[in-house]
Amino acid sequence: MSTAIPVPDNWRSLFSSWDDLRQGYHAGEKDETVRGCARRLDTTAPGAEGDPVLFWTLGMLMLAPYVAFANPGPGVEDEVVAILRRVARGDDGRTCTHGWHPYEADVDDVLERLPAHLEVLSSPVNQALDDLLRKDLLPEDYLDELDEEAEPSNLSGPEILARWQCPRTAPGFARAALDYLGATVR
Ligand SMILES: [Zn+2]
Repeated sequence: MSTAIPVPDNWRSLFSSWDDLRQGYHAGEKDETVRGCARRLDTTAPGAEGDPVLFWTLGMLMLAPYVAFANPGPGVEDEVVAILRRVARGDDGRTCTHGWHPYEADVDDVLERLPAHLEVLSSPVNQALDDLLRKDLLPEDYLDELDEEAEPSNLSGPEILARWQCPRTAPGFARAALDYLGATVR
């Protein structure tokens, strides 16, 4: 059964350990958690349709505050930056018809809401589309501040979902994570 975005079977426990780490509650081996996510992204990307490249990229985004501010061990940041750069460069030469993508929202708002958004993004496609609301997929604060004429204010829930599913969204979130780390794409 396909889900709105591809996720691994154990996504919920992975995601909650990343969220704990982001919030400073994590009890396990922190650097190994970060490296584990980086390696999964490294082996998955660039990936075919159905591979959870976006999921692992969002994991790196969740872990970026730890990597940026909590003084990880030697080599961790370099490993993270190298794989994020490779994913970010996957956007080279790609075009789409969308005027906007979810990575353009404020990163801190996205991180705060990501566990809730992932619940929707990981649901079976038919279920995800049932009564899908914009606020299920974007931070409400962000939606409140937007110009009403342009994307994403004028988009429905399913149209916002299509932008989460766009192949350019993982590279965009990789760029957002690199920004967070103060690193450039190249
Ligand atoms: Zn797109």
